[in-house]
Amino acid sequence: MRDCLFCKMVSGKIQPQLVRTTEECIAFRDIHPQAPTHILIVPRRHIATLNELTAADGPLLGKMLLLAREIAADEGIAESGYRVLMNCNAGGGQTVFHIHLHLLGGRQMTWPPG
Ligand code: 5GP
Ligand code: ZN
Repeated sequence: MRDCLFCKMVSGKIQPQLVRTTEECIAFRDIHPQAPTHILIVPRRHIATLNELTAADGPLLGKMLLLAREIAADEGIAESGYRVLMNCNAGGGQTVFHIHLHLLGGRQMTWPPG
């Protein structure tokens, strides 16, 4: 997708602060961190929203969650705790329409979220 910000990061046209790359995903630090650790886990393949996922994407989603778990351990927040979430569409707070998992931690998270 030519005009997609996260596709540009996948292709290297824009270079975010990468923390991990795998065959299927990249992970980088959020430009406006909402917690001491705020990392986005992004599949290399362009998928606009959670609504576009199919059953065939189950393994990819599993890998995204497992990557979040590994990065949480690397960041030293596995034991203290962290939050993983995906916003869907405008009402869910999504602003970049290429799916991504947010990994947030390093402070006490609150509930309900805003
Ligand atoms: P959403 O609101 O779609 O769930 O999350 C999009 C996230 O992407 C936001 O947390 C926002 O701060 C982050 N973001 C937007 N533009 C950039 C950018 O150019 N670089 C990085 N690293 N993060 C970005
Ligand atoms: Zn994209």
